[in-house]
Order: sequence, then structure tokens, then C-alpha cells
Amino acid sequence: MSWASIVGQSRAKEILRVSLQRNRLAHAYLFIGQEGSGKYAIALELAKVINCEHGQEEACDNCASCRKFKTLQHPNLKLIFPLPVGRYEKSNDPPLAKLNDDDIIAIQEQLNLKASNPYHKISLLRANTIKINSIREIRRQAALTIFGQGKKVFIIIDADKMSDEASNALLKTLEEPHPDTLLILTTTSVESLLPTIISRCQLIRLDPLGEDVIAQALHENRNIELQRSKTIARSVNGNYTKALRYIDADYEDRQNKAIGLLRAMLMKSRMAVLEEIEKLIDNYQKPEIEDILRLMQQWLQDSMLLKEGIKSEYPLPSTEAHEKFINHYPDWDYAGSFGAIDRAVSLLGKNVYIPLLLIDLTFKLKKFTGIASSNR
Ligand SMILES: [Zn+2]
Repeated sequence: MSWASIVGQSRAKEILRVSLQRNRLAHAYLFIGQEGSGKYAIALELAKVINCEHGQEEACDNCASCRKFKTLQHPNLKLIFPLPVGRYEKSNDPPLAKLNDDDIIAIQEQLNLKASNPYHKISLLRANTIKINSIREIRRQAALTIFGQGKKVFIIIDADKMSDEASNALLKTLEEPHPDTLLILTTTSVESLLPTIISRCQLIRLDPLGEDVIAQALHENRNIELQRSKTIARSVNGNYTKALRYIDADYEDRQNKAIGLLRAMLMKSRMAVLEEIEKLIDNYQKPEIEDILRLMQQWLQDSMLLKEGIKSEYPLPSTEAHEKFINHYPDWDYAGSFGAIDRAVSLLGKNVYIPLLLIDLTFKLKKFTGIASSNR
């Protein structure tokens, strides 16, 4: 039952099941896959199976151990992820020791969200790197007695965020594996890891999730109406985390914002666009602004398909706005606009001042209209 709760990834699940069946697990795994592909969900499931009192390749989801996993309270499970650095923190302090109360509360909230949804992405302020303190903690914890008959499992989320010192400390741990310990590293960018770390792990690459797989999961596991599931699935680029965020956070609202912003950028005065941008920044966080830009890009893409007469696999909710756009901008440079939005999204991830970035995008989009800009 429990492997089935993981969306897609049948290949990775099969590899792990066979290893469990034959009792031939590696000491360390590295799960590589894009954002929202389920790296952590699989890691957690593997940890649960290993510690289940009844299961061999499948967790029972019912025993005391499995129940502790549900709340992430199992003493054999340790999650390691980027944390803020406390005041006067030294590298041999326990990772949470010098953090203030607000940080501790925020971490607890994030862990609760992660327990209720393994696809949740942990997000903490000022948490840019995995600290050496967290990696040192592995050794200390590994030396303690195991609870039950399982193994201690350390899941290092976003392992590419390890500081250099943390990477070197982890390397030592990997070189002398503890027999009752399993390390699972997850990453979206394997090239950021030390080659010596990579070579000591068994690599498992996760496949990008297909639109149909995501649509089906939203429909069957989350009771989302089929047409809406399909619409959301095609907007998330294989990212199930984002798909779940869209069902919670009202996909339609984001899409309307995207179209509204595009309209403002093309039609309104610079002052009015600035006001629009300020409103956006007041109401939305960076990942949400990224969503809005991506939805704008997708909306333009749909216009292009409609113009070219290419029938999309999914029917558009409404073609009226697209048709207006196509008639108004017959010479729109689609490729140029897709590139400009890609660049804006990539800058968004790099701490560029957001209003500036969006004003810059406005100028660029106006150039792609194919209409001379002298009267604007
Ligand atoms: Zn169990």
C-alpha cells in the first residue's frame, strides 16, 4: 500500500523493492531528480520500510514504528536540511542549540507540514546552507543505540546545499559507514556535490513526472475534478509539489493574476505598471511570483498554439482572450517573449530586486509586440 502513495517513479521504487527483497541495500543512496519529483517521499518510505516491524519490502503502515514515521517522530529518523546560523554559533554546537525561539518555531512548523505532506518543500528564512554542525550530529547520533530492530536513517535534503566543511565531514562519515546506519542524500543538482561523495553513494535518478501521472494523482488521491487536474498538471512542469500548492492556493487566482499583469505591462502607463507590481510584491512571495510568470508564459504559449492552429492535447478553458490577443498583436515575437520570461524567472532566484526585474520585463515585452513604441 505504502509505495503506492508515491506518485509515479515506478522504476526507482522497483530498484529499491528488489534490494529490500534481497536484503542488499547500499550504505548510502543519492536520489537525483528535479524539484517536486518525489525524492524525499521515496527516501522517507524507504526509511519506514526498513524500520517497519512487519514489512520486508512494503511497510505495514500500522505498527508502532510506522506510526512514529507518520509524525516524523521516530527516533531512528533524522532529517538534515539547510538551517539558519545562530548567534555566536560554533561548529561543534548541536545544530539547533544557538537558534532563537522564532527559528525553532518556524522549523517545527515546517516539519509538521513535511509530516502531513512529504512533497512539501521546507522553507526557512536565512537557511542557505547545510551546516557542518548538522553533519557532525550524524556521527554522534549513529553511535547511540538503535530503537527496535531497524536502522538509523539520515535523510539529507538538498545535499548540494552543504557547506564545504559539511561536505568534507560527510565524506569522512561515508568512508567509514556504520553498519546500522543508512544515509540518503537528495539533490536536484548532482554537479554541485563533491565527486568523492557521489562515488560513495548508490545513485538513483528519478524520472520527471509526466502530465498524465500528475493529473491522475490529483484526481485520484486528492479528489480534484479531472478537467481541473489536467489543467493544473500541464502548468507545473513535472513538479508535484507545485501541483499541490496550486490546488491549495487557487490556481485560477494565479492565472488571473498572470493575465492581469501581462495586460498591465502591455497597455498601462509606467506609473500604473509600477503600482501593479507593488501590489503584487505586497501580496505574493517569490515562489508565487515565479508561478505567476510561468503561467504568463504558458498563456502566451497557448496563444501561439491557437494562432498556429496546433490543437493542444488539453482544451483551453476559454479562447476568447487568446483570440483578442492574437488579433491585437499579429506580429508578436513569441520565442523572444518566452526567453525574456525565462530570464526573469532565473533572475528571481538570484536575489535581484524584484520591481526592477519586472519593469525590465515590461520593457522587453513591449518590444515583442511588433508595434512601434514611439507613442508609449
Ligand atoms: Zn509497520
